[in-house]
Order: sequence, then C-alpha cells, then structure tokens
Amino acid sequence: MQKFSMVIHGGAGTLVRGLMTPELEQQYKVTLQKALDAGYLCLTQKGTALDAVTQAVTILEDSPLFNAGKGAVFTADGTHEMDAAIMDGSNRKAGGVSLVSGIKNPIVLARDIMDKSQHVFLAGEGAMRFADSLNYKLEDANYFYDEHRYQQWQNIKDSDNFELDHSIKKEGKFGTVGAVACDATGNIAAATSTGGMTNKKWGRVGDSPLIGSGTYAHNKTCAISCTGSGEYFIRGVVAYDVSCLIEYKGLNLQEATDQVVHERLIDLGGDGGLIGVDSAGNTAMVFNTEGMYRGVKTSQGEEEIKIYKE
Ligand code: ASP
Repeated sequence: MQKFSMVIHGGAGTLVRGLMTPELEQQYKVTLQKALDAGYLCLTQKGTALDAVTQAVTILEDSPLFNAGKGAVFTADGTHEMDAAIMDGSNRKAGGVSLVSGIKNPIVLARDIMDKSQHVFLAGEGAMRFADSLNYKLEDANYFYDEHRYQQWQNIKDSDNFELDHSIKKEGKFGTVGAVACDATGNIAAATSTGGMTNKKWGRVGDSPLIGSGTYAHNKTCAISCTGSGEYFIRGVVAYDVSCLIEYKGLNLQEATDQVVHERLIDLGGDGGLIGVDSAGNTAMVFNTEGMYRGVKTSQGEEEIKIYKE
C-alpha cells in the first residue's frame, strides 16, 4: 500500500534554548501540530499533496508566531513584503509570488498564479494587480503587526544590516514556513511562504518563492521546502540540488538532503535547513542550525513535532 506523509517546518534557527520558555515552546508545538494535522487529515481523506501543503501553510501563515503572512518581518521601509511558492511534483506546474503586501495568505496567491495566470512567477505591483483581478481582499498593516518583529526592526533599521528573524545571535524566534507532502497516489508537492529578512531593502527577494532554490517538487525525485539565509540558498539552487543528487547520482532522499545541508551549503557559507519527501512517502528534516521548528506525520504511524536537535 502506498505510504502517505506530511512534513512541515516553521523556520530553521529557532529561539536560543535559554530564551525559550515552556509556555512559548508549547505555543509553537500547538500551532505546528494544528498545521500538521490539517495537512495529514487532507491526505487521509484522499486529498492531493497539493491541497495538503496549501492547507498546512495557510495555518502557519495565519499564526503570528511565524515569519509568514500574519507576523511577517518588517522591511527597511517599515512595511511587509511577502514571498511564497508552490509546486506540484506530478506535472511540475509551479506558482511563485514575491514582494506582495496586504495579502493574508500569499501561498493561496502563489497557487492561483499556478492555476489561473498562465505564468509561473509574478512580483510586486503586477502580482497585486493579478490578486485584485481575482477580488482578493487586502488586510491593513495592523493585521501583520507583531511587537517582537517591530523591535527586531528597530534594533537595526538605521544600519545596512538585514537579518534572519531567527538568527542565533539574538532572540530570533520566528521563521519562514513550509510544507511537503506525499499523497495516497504517490504524488508529491512543496509549498513555502515567508516575510523574508528583517530590514531588507531594494526589493530584495529571497529563495522561498524561487522555484529550484527554496521550493521544488518532482515526482521522480523529491519535494523540498527550504528555510535559512536565502542568498546562499539561491546561489546553491538548493532544492533543485537535492533533486539532482537523487536523479543523476542515485542518492536516496536522506543521503541527498544530508549532503546538501551539511556539506554543499556549508561550503558556500550558508546556514539553514529543509524538509523533504519522495513519492514512496519517505521523509527528511535536515538543518545545520541550532534547531528548526518541524513536524512529520505518516500513514505508518510515525509522528513527531520538534524544535531543537535532540
Ligand atoms: N529563506 C528566507 C529568506 O531568505 C528566510 C527564512 O528562511 O526565514 O527570505
């Protein structure tokens, strides 16, 4: 029988252990569980991998705990510019969006780009016009406001620095979100959504919305969603690199993800992690940071939600 699997992440890096309170840890775990359960339920009801990843990411976007949708980080201009992407491994259709503001669920917009636009990637003003053509309602800035993120921005806003909101140098406790799934027919999909990096400027786009860098899915190899210092993930074409190691070098999912995160990414100087699944339902959650908010649930009874290495 085909194994089906759901994997999610809420960003690599995480809050330095000493700064995490039991209450906060509980809040993260509850939200991760909710997203994991929603995606998994979809799979048990014969939903597609694509629907499962959309639903899981939507729940994480709606939580202020993570740097995506509600709670997205501040740009240098004090705004929120969000990026997201989704990919269907069964036909390699994909949708990516970047530099959008006021959109409650950027992952839904990415999916609409895939399904309804005849294009793969829309950015900024044009993406907003596309959303408007589909009657998206815009949220005002208050919806996205989060006090902690505001303080993170205040600390660096007059500098040229930009930083991961889950940098281990500071109290960084939020992150990009993502999901990958393998459904009961063996189709796989990946989705990623983010507010990017605090104090980013000049229309900075990270890896998350770029197909092949932060997000990729191909039934023949794997579905991958990444999190970490986006510039390195773009230069390493990380999600596609995992796929290539499987396709051309014959590695399995675990070997390929380990090699990319612990060797090839580190050689470039990048930190972060990723989650992956293949069409046999195998899963991987790999990171080279202190932790990564993550969860996995499969039809063979495997289930865990974790934050730190352990
Ligand atoms: N990869 C994201 C970016 O660079 C950040 C993150 O993973 O939190 O935009």
